[in-house]
Amino acid sequence: MVKYPSWIEERNGVLWLTEDDRDHLKVSYRLKNIIFSEQSPIQHVMIVESDDFGRMLVLDGVVQTTAMDGHIYNEMITHVPLQLHPNPKRVLIIGGGDCGAAREVTKYETVEQIDMVEIDELVVSSCKKHLPEVSGNLNDPRVNFIFTDGLQFAREKTDEYDIIIVDSSDPVGPAEALFEYDFYQHLHHALKKDGILVCQSQSPIFQQKIVKQTRKNFEKLFSYAKTYTAVVPTYPGGMWSFTIGSKVSPIHTSLVKGKHVETHYFNQEVLQNCFALPEFLKRIVPND
Ligand code: SAM
Repeated sequence: MVKYPSWIEERNGVLWLTEDDRDHLKVSYRLKNIIFSEQSPIQHVMIVESDDFGRMLVLDGVVQTTAMDGHIYNEMITHVPLQLHPNPKRVLIIGGGDCGAAREVTKYETVEQIDMVEIDELVVSSCKKHLPEVSGNLNDPRVNFIFTDGLQFAREKTDEYDIIIVDSSDPVGPAEALFEYDFYQHLHHALKKDGILVCQSQSPIFQQKIVKQTRKNFEKLFSYAKTYTAVVPTYPGGMWSFTIGSKVSPIHTSLVKGKHVETHYFNQEVLQNCFALPEFLKRIVPND
């Protein structure tokens, strides 16, 4: 008999993945099969084929990205800062092991170097091999993979990057430190004098504390800070938040001279509108 991890169950000959990362909500996905399953020194890494979402990356039983909607998240975490910055050359990505964010950044010709700091090499190798819908089989020579802890890496950098993107998993285990003020302080230091920092800041429906705290942390460090959203069906609650901070330039999308990129979700209208927040969010993170 096959021994599955605790989040996989076989019912009447059908495999189900049940995401149970918080104690009051469980989400189950019907699977066609399991493509890859291995324990790394950091976490359990799985790539599965689901009915509705296609292939999915699952870390410790939590869905990270899918072939169906991974592009929405990856385009929104990258193109917003890359369009806002006048001349992005050096980009740092922390996390992002599925390679989807790096793949989007390579669409900009001005970018000369992309340092991708991922704690778990197995996430990168498995996504490159089994999740090409997201990773795009990334082999652009500008991408420099560094397999280490993002916090450790950030501590040692000063005045190096135009843009830093924190594409982390949920704030548990190795990613917990990636949501703290100390970490953002190091990243602020690692940015050039006109640098921009963006991070995923969790669900505005279920994790409002994190949305608010992240924004507060950014406001302490940056002259300008804002919160924007996108709809990513895979993530519980659907709506997802991103927090962005800029050292010197106001975050005004009307000032952007749109750079053309091939995308599936992002465009100039989405950029103009993603900072428009519903009333409940305006009360906690107003974008004035
Ligand atoms: N888009 C996804 C989401 O919001 O759920 C997350 C994308 S990506 C798969 C997250 C990556 O962050 C994982 O591959 C994980 O290994 C990596 N990660 C977690 N903690 C880290 C750390 N301290 N340093 C570097 N990478 C880290």
